[in-house]
Amino acid sequence: MNCIFCNIINRNSNAEILFEDDDIISFLDIRPVNFGHTLVIPKTHYENFLAVPDDILAKLIKTTKLLSVAIVKSLTPDGFNVITNNGTAAGQSVFHFHFHIIPSYDEDDFKFKLNLKNYLDSSMREYADKIRSEVNS
Ligand code: AMP
Ligand code: ZN
Repeated sequence: MNCIFCNIINRNSNAEILFEDDDIISFLDIRPVNFGHTLVIPKTHYENFLAVPDDILAKLIKTTKLLSVAIVKSLTPDGFNVITNNGTAAGQSVFHFHFHIIPSYDEDDFKFKLNLKNYLDSSMREYADKIRSEVNS
C-alpha cells in the first residue's frame, strides 16, 4: 500500500511536523486553505473516522485541541474549522484518517457555508426516526 501519510510517518516523505508522540503525528497541510492549515493523524493506518478505535480517537481529539490552541495563540485567526472528510463524496482524497484544523479570517472567501436544504412536511421526523433506530442498536 502506498500511502502518502504513512510515508510521512516513516520519514520517506518530508513534512513540516508540528507534534508527534507514540500514536499521533501532526503536520502542515501542503495545500492549505489558509496558511497554518494543519492535519492531525493516527500513526496506524486507518482508512476513515469509523475505522479508528475509540481510544485512538480520544487521543486524536485531545491532540487536535492542543494544536488548535497553538494555532489560535500563534497565528491569531478570527476563527477555525475542525473537519474530517469521509469518503470520496465528502471530499476525502487521502484515505488515511485525518482531522483538518483550518484557521479562518473574517475577510476570507472560504466559509463553511453550504447550500442548505429545507425539510418538507414530516421528513425531518422521518430522518430522525431512521437515525434514532440505529443509535442504540
Ligand atoms: P482530504 O481531502 O480530506 O482527504 O485531505 C487530504 C489533505 O492532505 C489535503 O488537504 C492535501 O492538501 C493534504 N496533503 C496531501 N499530500 C500531502 C503531503 N505530502 N503533505 C501534507 N499534506 C498533504
Ligand atoms: Zn497511511
